Amino acid sequence: GDADHRCQLVVIGSGPGGYTAAFRAADLGMDVILVERYAELGGVCLNVGCIPSKALLHAANVIEEARHAADYGIAFGEAKIDLDKLRAHKEKTVGTLNKGIAGMAKQRKVRTLTGTAEFASANRLSVNTAQGVETVDFAQCIIAAGSQPVKLPAFPWDDPRVMDSTGALMLKDVPKRLLVVGGGIIGLEMACLYSALGSAVTVVEFMDQLMPGADPDLVKPLQALLKKRGVAIHTSCKVAKVTAGKKALSAEFEGASVPSGTDYDRVLVSVGRSPNGGKLKAENAGVQVSERGFIAVDKQMRTNVPHIFAIGDLVGQPMLAHKATHEAKVAAEVAAGHKREWVARVIPSVAYTDPEIAWVGLTETEAKAKGIAYELGKFPWAASGRAIGIGRTEGFTKLLFDPATHRVIGGGIVGAHAGDLIAEIALAIEMGCEAGDIGHTIHPHPTLSETVAMAAEVFDGSITDLY
Ligand code: FAD
Repeated sequence: GDADHRCQLVVIGSGPGGYTAAFRAADLGMDVILVERYAELGGVCLNVGCIPSKALLHAANVIEEARHAADYGIAFGEAKIDLDKLRAHKEKTVGTLNKGIAGMAKQRKVRTLTGTAEFASANRLSVNTAQGVETVDFAQCIIAAGSQPVKLPAFPWDDPRVMDSTGALMLKDVPKRLLVVGGGIIGLEMACLYSALGSAVTVVEFMDQLMPGADPDLVKPLQALLKKRGVAIHTSCKVAKVTAGKKALSAEFEGASVPSGTDYDRVLVSVGRSPNGGKLKAENAGVQVSERGFIAVDKQMRTNVPHIFAIGDLVGQPMLAHKATHEAKVAAEVAAGHKREWVARVIPSVAYTDPEIAWVGLTETEAKAKGIAYELGKFPWAASGRAIGIGRTEGFTKLLFDPATHRVIGGGIVGAHAGDLIAEIALAIEMGCEAGDIGHTIHPHPTLSETVAMAAEVFDGSITDLY
């Protein structure tokens, strides 16, 4: 029979992938419906990911900066933390952006439908709303249903003291003893946050290095600072089991170096995210989903069913918001009939830890594993006037070059504002810059951005005497 709604394009999920795709398609003249199971738009990134974590990490940085200021004669005393106000800061930040996205949807006449979508066929969704099931007929569809935290079975999930990242961002309290299971980006960001707020934090990572994926030299300054602040770090260590006791959660570890304590007041499990591709009855539309829940796409973000696209976390790694938004624009433009495909060479990664860690393009670990030849230009921040002035000499900037062409093929930065600084290296790679192009570009003095130019000059041999 007739559907309750019909449209040219339906988008499932309103995260950075979904809302970007919906808005781009509407701007290109398409008639769009955006389906989201939650009342608030913005997905994981806005509601329980990128945005609230950075709002809270800002507070952590203020606390640590104030402590550090005592070193140069400015003492503030211990921080008095009003958790209600801190949570309000986070909620206000999220709320402002929720309203912004809803406003943008309205402005573009994107219709939003609140409910959980499933495929009924290759041209129909059935959406479970508060008013009952509503059907949506579509000519084209973009799946942007995202991912969710992996819930390891060895943990008592019915105990409220066991948290995933969403629970950690709720910031119900500042636990005396926090165990962070998984030393990836999310786990380490939360370790920085809770450590600054006063928790005794223990981080346990299964692999032999924190933040697997980043070069080990980039991780070292972070690891050193965390240790200095009293964070216990155990790599090559596994949390075998957590049992809920009355007074504490007690953990069992396996590995060469295990934490001395077994009791914790809260446990954060941050061991990765799993894609939501398997929960959409995609088989009713003939869309192939992998066993793990990923949906394979081509360069135009089309699934195996050509009028159904997929973008964001559920099409694969890296699970990052800026990857989702970029894919979203490609999918929306292709759906609108434009000749478009994914052409970006690199996707930057950033950990908003203290210090920040950022990398883009080829890493040294990857180059060594694949036998790719590279040469390095590395500039230690101990030789940067700005870094010395702000007391952040632990950082460094490195660039990887193709030995034959001298083109930049990768880069990594650890230090304050590394996440902002990495954008220049991403641009350099996209533009096919050679070392001289960066070195001969006048960078403002005294800034941390100079360290990117200096790293290029170190490679070129125009800087030989750093100390
Ligand atoms: P999501 O944001 O996951 O959105 C999917 C949406 O689809 C959700 O709103 C969901 O409710 C909805 N949905 C799912 N199934 C259905 C259905 N059947 N019907 C209707 N709606 C449905 N990335 C960064 O780039 N930078 C960061 O700093 C960063 N920090 C992070 C911090 C944390 C704590 C976490 C957890 C993640 C962080 N990420 C960060 C990752 C980032 O949040 C994701 O990469 C991004 O949200 C993926 O976007 P998406 O559009 O694919 O999906």
